[in-house]
Amino acid sequence: MLNFYAEQLAQLQQQGQYRTLPDIRHQGKHIWRDGRKMLNFSSNDYLGLASDNSLKQQFFAQTDVGEMALTSSSSRLLTGNFPIYAELESVMASQFQREACLLFNSGYHANIGILPTLADKQTLILADKLVHASLIDGIRLSEADYQRYRHNDYAHLQQLLEKNSKTYQRIIIVTESVFSMDGDTTDLWQLVALKQQYRHVMLYVDEAHALGVFGQNGLGLAEKCGCIEQIDFLVGTFGKALAAMGAYVVCDQVIKDYLINKMRPLIFSTALSPLVVQWVYFLMQHLPQMQTQRQHLQQLSTQLQLGVQQLTQQVMPSRSQIVPYILGDNASTVASAERLQQRGFYCLPIRPPTVPSGTSRIRFSLTADMTADEVAQLLDVLKGSQ
Ligand SMILES: *Cc1c(COP(=O)(O)O)cnc(C)c1O
Repeated sequence: MLNFYAEQLAQLQQQGQYRTLPDIRHQGKHIWRDGRKMLNFSSNDYLGLASDNSLKQQFFAQTDVGEMALTSSSSRLLTGNFPIYAELESVMASQFQREACLLFNSGYHANIGILPTLADKQTLILADKLVHASLIDGIRLSEADYQRYRHNDYAHLQQLLEKNSKTYQRIIIVTESVFSMDGDTTDLWQLVALKQQYRHVMLYVDEAHALGVFGQNGLGLAEKCGCIEQIDFLVGTFGKALAAMGAYVVCDQVIKDYLINKMRPLIFSTALSPLVVQWVYFLMQHLPQMQTQRQHLQQLSTQLQLGVQQLTQQVMPSRSQIVPYILGDNASTVASAERLQQRGFYCLPIRPPTVPSGTSRIRFSLTADMTADEVAQLLDVLKGSQ
């Protein structure tokens, strides 16, 4: 019986798509692998907070860790509802200046839970072609019909809205604000303008790569664009720039109440560790003061975007800290990543089916604890490989 699985795996190996868990060690912004110390250009720790030991020490100094629960031992609906969850939700609701905020165990939980709860058979989901796997899974789990619009193609979205607006009681537009493979951004005002043409269209935005990075207070691209209020379901995650675990939706109170009553990944899963939520609370309070890190990250991003663009002579899609270096075919992408690793830069090749075929790439992600010199060194090595 197990033969079946072994053969499937062998097939993956043949296609060069076999996955294994890498044996790595972390040391600040560096990573050790195969006895090699490399600067981590594949991290989601965009503000450099996860590797900031002084910040951790500050947190531990002001938190009575011995008294804190490491586990909630239960769903929040049963005995797992610790006061720190509601405190964080209340602080976040006021930071975002919205009625309500609700926490989840992860972005994956949020995205596979919210859409199936809110979207029934009378709902149509219109999702950007490139949304994250967790959103795709959420769409699949829901009973709603769905269609994909071409990536960031608002004219296409408008056509789909016009064509379907009379057929459905509700339509939910689903997008990310910063896309994970090209680092390009969504024009949130375009989506808000489209949504506002209809009484029954709602907007769902996933800010996983934007929380902490964009906006005066680090609340994400919606803050930068000044349209937090117009987004019905504003989702973000704590696992990336926030150096923690978990996720949230910022929404109206009625939506929060509805999710508490109906959302299965919220009802049937043990809530986050209270200690981790305390850490998120600490970080959310410090987030507005991290403008220096955000500006530095922005400078590094522009530097790398321009450098890669000069090198490839291709249009650079990125407007963020995620910068793709698109080589096209698998073999040269893998070879280039290997070469960069030998030179001390931990960069990973991304191949189909993760990205469209013919667009294999190295996906650089920058963190605020890097220096302009380090980015320049990376660009020098890239130029040498041309
Ligand atoms: C990382 C990511 C998620 C998943 O969040 P986790 O908290 O890691 O489960 C969801 N959406 C997007 C766009 C992401 O990049």
